[in-house]
Amino acid sequence: MVNIENLIRKNIRELKPYSSARAEFTGEASVFLDANENPYNPPYCRYPDPMQRELKLAIAAQKNVATEQILLGNGSDEPIDLLIRSFCEPQRDNMVAIAPTYGMYKVAADINNVAYRKALLNEQFDFCADDLLKIADNHTKLIWLCSPNNPTGNSLNRQEIVNTIEAFRGIVVLDEAYIDFSKRQTFLQELHKYPNLVVLQTFSKAWALAGVRLGMAFAATEIIATLNKVKYPYNISVLTQQHALRQILQRKDDVAAWVQTLLAEREKLQAALTSLPCVLHIYPSDANFILVKVTNANAVYRHLISRGVVVRNRHSVELCADCLRITVGAPPENAMLTELLISELKAL
Ligand SMILES: *Cc1c(COP(=O)(O)O)cnc(C)c1O
Repeated sequence: MVNIENLIRKNIRELKPYSSARAEFTGEASVFLDANENPYNPPYCRYPDPMQRELKLAIAAQKNVATEQILLGNGSDEPIDLLIRSFCEPQRDNMVAIAPTYGMYKVAADINNVAYRKALLNEQFDFCADDLLKIADNHTKLIWLCSPNNPTGNSLNRQEIVNTIEAFRGIVVLDEAYIDFSKRQTFLQELHKYPNLVVLQTFSKAWALAGVRLGMAFAATEIIATLNKVKYPYNISVLTQQHALRQILQRKDDVAAWVQTLLAEREKLQAALTSLPCVLHIYPSDANFILVKVTNANAVYRHLISRGVVVRNRHSVELCADCLRITVGAPPENAMLTELLISELKAL
């Protein structure tokens, strides 16, 4: 069994967290003279709930987890940083991640002066737990998996994810930012089995709230309690809490419809791209984007930019030479992209 307590950095284990006015008093009251707030301009004059109780109740019901298993952050970027700061001693500990994957894990590691080790995926952009664990050592505190993965779009082999969680003596972070676009099961319902598993999800993709900045980490209460000690007391604003709550309570059906539309558009886009001379390969996708290998990624990228269409050039990423990552947009946007790629041959 993994001992979480022993994995936490000593200074964090011993940390006495800041106790805010809003956290010390939680009962019913009508006069708040405890936080030096300005009484005018409600509700924005008041500090937000530091534990986001109301919002977490709605998320807990939606995701079928307990509120104590949820940490909310300023996007997923915040829990990524909190995990590193809570578990990795700078210049001593390290973390292992699949490669290629989401770039923020390495940036957050670099900022925290924590070594980042890459476990290269195979030709199918998948991995095997045994090979990944060979890259880990006694100072590896975190392993990063992302499924469906960015920028490759595929889901990782579920049994290999399980093998990694079961064999590793540290914490496995599984980023499920794109899970709502996939037919695969989330690992949220497995959390009770694995005290060392952290699942990341976000409101930025299927929930269409990238501008609001709200990310979620789900884990056993011991890990969540540690992240709560380290986070800024008022990390989620009143505006964000209100808006996300409204989206969950009132727009669930819209979200489901958007996902269905985007999946249908993804199929259409894949079919349209297949016949184009500049397209060499379309990788299978479980997400709201597709990775496409083209004859010359830099040239195609520049051609699209010159017509006002921006895609993500992944040419310089390992295993992704001459690949573009194309987000599935609204139907007219996808049609415009297809048109421009058809005219690509003539333009070059
Ligand atoms: C887009 C994305 C996120 C979301 O990040 P936010 O900070 O929540 O907007 C997280 N992980 C991956 C792999 C992503 O591609």
